Amino acid sequence: PEHMATILAEYARDGLLNIAGTCCGSTPEHTKALTEALDGIAPRIPPAPDHRTRLAGLEPLVFRSDLNFVNIGERTNVTGSRRFARLIKEDDYEEALSVARQQVENGAQAIDVNMDEGLLDSVAAIERFLLLAMSEPDIARVPVVVDSSKWEVIEAGLKCLPGKPIVNSISLKEGEDIFRKHAEAARDYGAAVIVMAFDEDGQADTVERRKQVCKRAYRILVDDIGFPPEDIIFDPNIFAIATGIPEHNRYAIDYIETVRWIKENLVGSKISGGVSNLSFSFRGNERVREAMHAAFLYKAIQAGMDMGIVNAGQLAVYDEIDPVLLNLVEDVLYDRQPEATERLVTYAEQMQESGSKDEGAEEAWRMASVEERLKYALIKGIADHIVEDTEEARLASNRPLDVIEGPLMDGMNIVGDLFGSGKMFLPQVVKSARVMKKSVAHLTPFIEAEQAEHGGEVWARTKVLLATVKGDVHDIGKNIVGVVLGCNNYEVIDLGVMVPVDRILESAREHDVDVIGLSGLITPSLDEMVYVAGEMERKKMTTPLLIGGATTSKLHTAVKVAPRYSGPTVHVLYATLSVSTEGAMVYEEQRGEFVEGVAREYEAVRSAYASRNGSTALLSLEQARANKLEFEWEDVSISPPNQLGVSVFDDVGVSDLRSVIDWGPFFIAWEMKGKYPQILKDEHAGEQARSLFEDANRLLDEVQTLGALTPRGVIGLFSAGSEADDIHIYKDESRVSTIATLHTLRQQTLKTPGKPNRALADFVAPADSGIGDYLGAFSVSIHGVEDLAARYRHDHDDYRAILVQSVGDRLAEAFAEWLHTRVRRDLWGYAQTEQLSMDDLIRERYRGIRPAPGYPAQPDHTEKRTLFNLVSAEQNTGVELTEHLAMTPPASVCGLFFAHPEAAYFNVGKIGKDQIEDYARRKDARVEKIERWLGPSLAYEVERVEHIES
Ligand code: SAH
Repeated sequence: PEHMATILAEYARDGLLNIAGTCCGSTPEHTKALTEALDGIAPRIPPAPDHRTRLAGLEPLVFRSDLNFVNIGERTNVTGSRRFARLIKEDDYEEALSVARQQVENGAQAIDVNMDEGLLDSVAAIERFLLLAMSEPDIARVPVVVDSSKWEVIEAGLKCLPGKPIVNSISLKEGEDIFRKHAEAARDYGAAVIVMAFDEDGQADTVERRKQVCKRAYRILVDDIGFPPEDIIFDPNIFAIATGIPEHNRYAIDYIETVRWIKENLVGSKISGGVSNLSFSFRGNERVREAMHAAFLYKAIQAGMDMGIVNAGQLAVYDEIDPVLLNLVEDVLYDRQPEATERLVTYAEQMQESGSKDEGAEEAWRMASVEERLKYALIKGIADHIVEDTEEARLASNRPLDVIEGPLMDGMNIVGDLFGSGKMFLPQVVKSARVMKKSVAHLTPFIEAEQAEHGGEVWARTKVLLATVKGDVHDIGKNIVGVVLGCNNYEVIDLGVMVPVDRILESAREHDVDVIGLSGLITPSLDEMVYVAGEMERKKMTTPLLIGGATTSKLHTAVKVAPRYSGPTVHVLYATLSVSTEGAMVYEEQRGEFVEGVAREYEAVRSAYASRNGSTALLSLEQARANKLEFEWEDVSISPPNQLGVSVFDDVGVSDLRSVIDWGPFFIAWEMKGKYPQILKDEHAGEQARSLFEDANRLLDEVQTLGALTPRGVIGLFSAGSEADDIHIYKDESRVSTIATLHTLRQQTLKTPGKPNRALADFVAPADSGIGDYLGAFSVSIHGVEDLAARYRHDHDDYRAILVQSVGDRLAEAFAEWLHTRVRRDLWGYAQTEQLSMDDLIRERYRGIRPAPGYPAQPDHTEKRTLFNLVSAEQNTGVELTEHLAMTPPASVCGLFFAHPEAAYFNVGKIGKDQIEDYARRKDARVEKIERWLGPSLAYEVERVEHIES
């Protein structure tokens, strides 16, 4: 009922509803939902006549100026599609419906349905088909064009359709009376009409006849019977050209000229046409047909054609038609050349002979030279033919290396330029890189064989070593950098994740690399990078060092990393930047100046930091505690959980999680700037964002069908009570025996008056208050992501590898969101009636928080160990902690659940030595060790940066 009500409300807002009061089959809830949805929507004010054509299936289709062409799916037509005809005759309506569904999925904004076949009971067939189709929202969403030459069939169809359909067609063929009768009936059914340029004398086939017939029809409709002009759609006859009959040569030109005239003279009306007629002589050669349709539509739409009946899945893009073919096609379309038809026919025949197995699927670009094809495949990221094309190019060249240095590099240079100038986006570049990789993989054995035989020239490239540092498992960003560098002709040596310093330095020496790039996500990685830099210095290395990854920053690199290493050290934020940075670090001409510039900048960062540091006023821990967040615990509503203890969730499917994915961070991971969902409609990035989003969803479909990813999660809900900055977890409600103690850190910076110095423990009732409180813990992982990514990578498909990783991360976060909702609504149950939209979830408009150890409210990663023990995370979800306490598999999230109505996230910020000492005492750990784990949070300098050893 809500969905229906929302749609109706949308109609009402768009002025498509005149009355909203009755509703077929309505229930009281239905009526109530409807009333609520319509509440506040003013009655329709008849709009000024704007002549926008409005059609509707379940959803409205309004012709807008920015929607410059409406395509109508043609495949559900027994006269036009042999397959559809067969399905109807064999009574396979199920499959016939899928034809309709496919048209809609392929982008048809309406579907044309035609059952005119001599042996069929057309009335029965159209009724049956339409009633079935209308019960499928995927199809019924779009308006239907009821197509028949028999009025009784059209009328039967209209009786089955909701919304505002189109009658196809009426005409003056049988005189004015019948024309009038049909038009009035169509209007009574609330339909728009297609008017064929046909009269008592037959089809109008010249410009003059077309004008005359259309004008006559328009006058009768508008002047005599008051038909709304925007509901009149003229079809001024698209006839077959290139038939060999000279009189037919001007059909396309005449149609286009008529379109222009109608637009100017028959105000408000629209223009349509059956496009496939045009190329009738080239039946069987879909490539030529598509090119003809695309070239024709390009001009016809410019002239004012509003809609057309087309095969929605098979529309070529004008700009992408092979230039040779396009030229031949346009010669025919515009009758530019006496031999035009003959030449196109010859070309088509040759094409047929050159033997594409599956006529039709092949596109025009496949006809170009092998160099052009390679370039095209790279720019468009099409991997389908890359191996065969590479092989063809290899056979044609002297040395296999020539293929790389010739067409492949040409193509990649264009990609690089387009990316650099913002005309291409990261996902496209990654797709191009996949094509490059597959091609190079094919050539490599030949290059090696040649080398073994003749010595010969090596493919010398700049070498970059990339590694995610020890204890860290995250590598999406690093993988993206690798791919981007790869397509800029760098040789990337990727050591993977959790790479200890020795291996990094050894490999660097072994491969004689030109740059070392370190990546990390969690805070302990910062310290590890400092350590690597120190080791590089100790070994007297001079190789430039690049620092990147989510927790890294220019500040950290300047203050902590760079001073430890005398070689060039630079922080890079985006993959996008890594190419130019890397280039600047490596190429002699640029290097000196660039490195000096960075050194000067970092020096400035350091001195600014030094003068600011120490100026942050810090309270003593005692003072901070005295300013803790206080509550009147008597008044705080605390609900005992419905289910105390540990609950394992091992039958949650990817399908359950999809609906709560927050896609925002997904686009950020792909360096696509803009907010989701707006980014999908963005003028600049929209097309690519949509394509990336589609790929991600297709991957999710596949993963769902194959069961390739397994979500595993656990939560625990416990009795708890706070004591100063700690939270005790009790075995049971008697609160006698403590099974664990969670330690929290308190903000110590001086606050403006009235603002507390918070610690997470403040959100739990003090143990000595006599009020029994509770706390939750959870851990979730998506298993299978890395295996799948490795499989794709093995297939040189970095695009899908990175896609599955970035989707895996989303699913892990979605799982946490899903579990948190379950907790609030039933397991803990303090918000049983909560009703939140996806947007509300993203904005965290619920009661309670789920802070994660290692994040700002509790920057200490070692708390994960306690959390893991509490819920037996390893046994229950198969997740592990690395030596630096990163969770692996990487698509994992853990955290605590606080239910306090005022619980909120905050940043602990810098903390003083007194708190570190107190904290170490509470955790029974050495101060130095705590200092190492909390390095980035310390408000003071430690003497010796010791390496974290867990
Ligand atoms: N919808 C987002 C949710 C994850 S980001 C997504 O899909 O990516 C927000 C999460 O980060 C929170 O749920 C919490 O677990 C963690 N978080 C955010 N701020 C935090 C803070 N200050 N301290 C601790 N954890 C925090």
